[in-house]
Amino acid sequence: MIGLTARDTHRTPRTPRAHRALRGLSVLAVAGALAIGGTACSSDSGHRAAKPGGREGSAEPMPTPSDVPTAADPNASIPPPLVPDTIVRSTATGGRTVALTFDDGPSPQWTPQVLALLKQYDAHATFCMLGPNAKANPNLVKEVVAAGDRLCDHSVTHDEGIAKRPLARIRYEIATAHDQIVAASGSGAAVSWFRAPGGDWSPQVRATAAGFGMRSLDWSVDTRDWERPGTEKILANAKKELKPGGIILMHDAGGERSQTLAALKQLLPWLVQKGYTFAFPA
Ligand SMILES: [Zn+2]
Repeated sequence: MIGLTARDTHRTPRTPRAHRALRGLSVLAVAGALAIGGTACSSDSGHRAAKPGGREGSAEPMPTPSDVPTAADPNASIPPPLVPDTIVRSTATGGRTVALTFDDGPSPQWTPQVLALLKQYDAHATFCMLGPNAKANPNLVKEVVAAGDRLCDHSVTHDEGIAKRPLARIRYEIATAHDQIVAASGSGAAVSWFRAPGGDWSPQVRATAAGFGMRSLDWSVDTRDWERPGTEKILANAKKELKPGGIILMHDAGGERSQTLAALKQLLPWLVQKGYTFAFPA
């Protein structure tokens, strides 16, 4: 039932990060039950070869919710799968289609600008949201749904070490964020995708997502916009890596995103000119 994929045991090396991401203030809005309990900024000092969290440069403190399970709970279990637990990194139809994905939001500053650009090109995207950010910005979740875009669960605390956490913690990260996003949508909108923070997948993470009805969503094109390497570099990364049916990773939150916006402004007409149509992962 739970099969290992290559991605579970091998990650793309990336630049060492001296300093782990600091989270958005909006996390502060997480339910009253959550209290500030230190930071989740345990440095990985580059020892991990994980994938982007997109949090660099954020000067905002990252509270750790006090009710996050930290110890193994012998009663924790993985619900029976409602959907396949295999990792998805392409569109349904392949062909000259592309799926855009935006992580770590929603952000009052950046998400509306992304939505406006998408609308201008009649494009659609999947938004991988942090539960607390959705809870803090329900109007943005509703706007995403109203625009015909789709929702994806990106966990509660953006723990890029989720794969090695006890099952109770994995369940919390996945199920709580799912419920926060659904509640924020106000319409019981479907949240059919889960994306592991930093691409930190494991069989347990995938199975838990599947148990809550979500497919595991990865990507095929990492624009590395989270590093803020410059607009041209973000654009070049996208153009270089994109193949038909690809899934592009960008960020609409988690830090200053003007480079992402500027790159998207050029990427969208380029995709249209190259004959791509906008699709969803499948
Ligand atoms: Zn992320």
